[in-house]
Amino acid sequence: MRGWEKNVRKVVPYVPGEQPALENLIKLNTNENPYPPSPKVLEALSRMDGEKLRKYPDPASSRLTRALAERYGVAEDQVFVGVGSDDVLGMAFMTFFNSEKPVLFPDISYSFYPVWADLLRIPYETRKLDENFTIQKEDYLTENGGIVFPNPNAPTGLLMPLSEVEEIVAANPDAVVIVDEAYIDFGGRSAVPLIAGYDNLLVVQTFSKSRSMAGMRIGFALGQAPLIKAMSDIKYSYNSYTMNLPSQVAGVKALEDEEYFQSTLKKVIETREKAKTRLSALGFTFPDSRANFIFAKHKEKPAEEIFQALKERQIFVRHFNQPRIHDYLRITVGTDEEMEALFAFLEEYL
Ligand SMILES: *Cc1c(COP(=O)(O)O)cnc(C)c1O
Repeated sequence: MRGWEKNVRKVVPYVPGEQPALENLIKLNTNENPYPPSPKVLEALSRMDGEKLRKYPDPASSRLTRALAERYGVAEDQVFVGVGSDDVLGMAFMTFFNSEKPVLFPDISYSFYPVWADLLRIPYETRKLDENFTIQKEDYLTENGGIVFPNPNAPTGLLMPLSEVEEIVAANPDAVVIVDEAYIDFGGRSAVPLIAGYDNLLVVQTFSKSRSMAGMRIGFALGQAPLIKAMSDIKYSYNSYTMNLPSQVAGVKALEDEEYFQSTLKKVIETREKAKTRLSALGFTFPDSRANFIFAKHKEKPAEEIFQALKERQIFVRHFNQPRIHDYLRITVGTDEEMEALFAFLEEYL
């Protein structure tokens, strides 16, 4: 071992879904939106003046912050923007999870949470989903150093009713509760309206899934001003210029096209509902997803085998080799054509 190695901060890294460089592949493995970003975004990007890149971007992303405040009915000082919600969540962990008491999150959930906790040396405990993969709200009514969960949960797709989210927030006035709403636009009621009543609630959302802009890296948090101020102080102490100029411009344009946003959401939701019927007919069972993916288990065939067979046909889905969920495949909702190709293969294969 080299001398410096003993001082290296070690962590088991998060493993992102594959981004294979293949043409003609059907990519249903990382919950990207199958539709392009709004034409207004594409137009603004193609008209962007490259000379502007000479200067640093606005460190506060003021225009995007203002547009988000307007869209979500909050004040500008209740908005924090970052480089994807991963950046925003990482900042939130760093800012708010600084207690000796354990941070709580579900055992089956976004697999980045334990990685940030390990990296930042935050004590944590997981709480077991029940046998139907439901988050038990009672598990979060005990003493803790903070709480985080996705709603809808990933990779299950199950939505917690807003009344239960509120119970958890209300029962923990001394801890920050982070609700990770990466998939909320696909059919859930957001906790944003609760912000006015609770100073310990932070709602995190992203442009990566519902707004078709995973490549732009835009995420944001909404919460009362003191929470946002605390996060900004950490951000400016680490990297002030997080969001690049094209992302700031594209984000504003995406928010200006509510009609396009709603129309693509509608298509994804319709395709998801049709996919549920088809998957049931093929012998799959799954929690009733409110996200843009379905977490499905076949009655006979092991998930690993289906996963490999699909991959050979260049259809990529996600399989997590983890306790409790290794029998499941997480299938992102693609276009109707992509889903048809998936079902055609499965009908022949199963
Ligand atoms: C995709 C995802 C994120 C992160 O998305 P970004 O692309 O970083 O905005 C955060 N939380 C959950 C639960 C996700 O599925």
